[in-house]
Amino acid sequence: MRTLEKITVVGASLAGLRAVQSLRREGFDGEITLIGAERHSPYNRPPLSKAVLRGDDDVALPGAEELGENWLRGRQAVRLDKEGRTVTLDDGGSVAYDGLVIATGARPRHLPGRPGRVFTLRTLEDALALREELGAGHGHVAVIGGGFIGGEVASTARELGLRVTLIDSGRHPMHTGLGEAASAWLSSLHTRSGVEVVSGVRASEVEEDGAKGVRVRLSDGRTLTADLVVAGMGVLPNTEWLDGSGLAVGDGVLCEPTLFARGSSDIVAAGDVARWPHSLYGGAMIRVEHWSNANEQGALAARNLLAGPAEATGFDGVPNFATSVHGSRIQTAGLPHLGERAEVVAGTPEDDRFAVAFSRDGVLVGAVAVNSPKDLIKLKKGIAATAAWQSVYDPR
Ligand SMILES: Cc1cc2nc3c(=O)[nH]c(=O)nc-3n(C[C@H](O)[C@H](O)[C@H](O)COP(=O)(O)OP(=O)(O)OC[C@H]3O[C@@H](n4cnc5c(N)ncnc54)[C@H](O)[C@@H]3O)c2cc1C
Repeated sequence: MRTLEKITVVGASLAGLRAVQSLRREGFDGEITLIGAERHSPYNRPPLSKAVLRGDDDVALPGAEELGENWLRGRQAVRLDKEGRTVTLDDGGSVAYDGLVIATGARPRHLPGRPGRVFTLRTLEDALALREELGAGHGHVAVIGGGFIGGEVASTARELGLRVTLIDSGRHPMHTGLGEAASAWLSSLHTRSGVEVVSGVRASEVEEDGAKGVRVRLSDGRTLTADLVVAGMGVLPNTEWLDGSGLAVGDGVLCEPTLFARGSSDIVAAGDVARWPHSLYGGAMIRVEHWSNANEQGALAARNLLAGPAEATGFDGVPNFATSVHGSRIQTAGLPHLGERAEVVAGTPEDDRFAVAFSRDGVLVGAVAVNSPKDLIKLKKGIAATAAWQSVYDPR
């Protein structure tokens, strides 16, 4: 292990917290400066679109208590000088480092216009504001984007008795992430649960419609009016503060397999902001926006920073994710969208319980399981072992 004295971690959420914990567990006894734009201690985001909207405020992230009060809350990094090894803060101050962890995550995409009753969901404040609106006696909510956040919000809004319209640009909601069979099933689940699904169109603009609410213009020329709109249209990595630093950025911080920023021996990145070549996928550059990825990468990036590039280990965790919509549990492993072939290998969509295996060149690259957690475990192991799905399931 090389000797570093001052490590700065930018971003005080899941990946940043795990980095700090890992530094201490590895025996680093130098100075750690954690810089976080939010004022809260690190908290868990997954409950924001689930339990919090239903009234449960528990967003505790285990380990956050280890930070104590000794870190820079509500402070934003605005510039990086990588030659001078300094991070500049929004109050004009600066922090020197000899090792840097970038864990600045991502923020929601917005539509132009953005009147008051259009909500996005990333922070605790966003979730509390949306919860208040959902409970304010409105009749109709339009959800733009049928991804996991849009799906979870639609599901909760139905539970609360609201009329819900879900607008999604794909053939079915989550078509890219789940493939044809599971996304068609998801669309029918939404419909059966009382959601009006409008697929294959984009929301191009939102505007205030007086007392009536918000008007949403659709790419096919239609407009619809709702009392409030929730936009779940994906996220953008928070890299603007790195502009001009010379660090390679392109839909995230471009990293080596070890999460060292390209060409750097003293900067690593982790979590939603990191883009790295994944060994399971022939070195394809990927960025993963899931909890377990940020959890594991934060820890590994910090260990690698201490070890130095020559001793560092590549990150090859199998991406995995779960969401619950209208009482059904949908899990994914690997990267289904890279598959050339998809086969339903267990159960059937008609029974609301099934699993789909995605393969490329005869090897498993992704899996989707609906109400079938055991199948997901089997397939995930197969993905990690670059096995053929037939070695996990007997061919039908
Ligand atoms: C509503 C919601 C529900 C989710 N549900 C699931 C789920 O069910 N399953 C799942 O796997 N994943 C889920 N996720 C995704 C998961 O929460 C993220 O993958 C995870 O939070 C990523 O952690 P991170 O630390 O990389 O980034 P983030 O959590 O985005 O944290 C980045 C932090 O850096 C701060 N920051 C940004 N720029 C700066 C700067 N310049 N200076 C200082 N600080 C800065 C930000 O304010 C933020 O606090 C969900 C996310 C959301 C928003």
